[in-house]
Amino acid sequence: MTWRATILTLFPEMFPGPLGVSLAGRALASGLWELEARDIRASATDRHRSVDDTPAGGGPGMVLRADILAAAIDAADIAPGRPRLVMSPRGRPLTQSLVAELAAGPGPLIVCGRFEGIDQRVIDARGLEEVSIGDYVLSGGEIGAMALIDACVRLLPGVMGKLSSGDDESFSAGLLEYPQYTRPQDFEGRPIPDILLSGDHARVAAWRRAEAEALTRNRRPDLWQAHAKQTGNQKAPKSTTDG
Ligand code: SAH
Repeated sequence: MTWRATILTLFPEMFPGPLGVSLAGRALASGLWELEARDIRASATDRHRSVDDTPAGGGPGMVLRADILAAAIDAADIAPGRPRLVMSPRGRPLTQSLVAELAAGPGPLIVCGRFEGIDQRVIDARGLEEVSIGDYVLSGGEIGAMALIDACVRLLPGVMGKLSSGDDESFSAGLLEYPQYTRPQDFEGRPIPDILLSGDHARVAAWRRAEAEALTRNRRPDLWQAHAKQTGNQKAPKSTTDG
């Protein structure tokens, strides 16, 4: 079965957008994954096709109505077993491990909020899991949904050129990635580190590992703590390239 993302949005014209180019776009065109963007407004019932109303209890902005959104979810006819997500700053943080979990499944339904958010009762009644892409507030869920889908699609079989190219990337071992270099050999007086040109694969691997550990410890003590706990490795080597 082909991995499929179903989006519920007030702005279906935003899709595929950036997902239609480069790696994800080529994979979409060649049928390695599928994208369906559905207009929530198609489930509106009144003459003005309204989807939102003022918040109960007062306050600024508008809230997406539970009945309209529930009708839109039901109309999407999502197979049982597909994850049902709603983008939300209160949600479970989107991490590489959640991405890997979603990429390994059949592909999610993703509800994109707008305005002040959506009525709590549709989240509860349709069992939506809230997912956040970070501790900041966007104006809508679409960009978050795109980030989530992009991260999943590049893990799908056949999408990345070299099968192994996801393996030693940032986060996949709980570490940030080592620095990358390519030609020219000398850039404004900055040479490529010698070891990388030595042809000694074991030394290259050890150097990269050491850089990844040092970078992680310097920049992301939170990730380093988690990694150190898992591996029992408390000491990170000093970076030759970072801070
Ligand atoms: N009033 C809400 C924010 C609403 S922003 C609050 O304070 O929590 C409007 C919509 O944008 C949300 O319903 C959600 O779908 C999306 N959104 C905003 N920030 C997001 C984030 N960090 N991660 C995922 N979705 C987000």
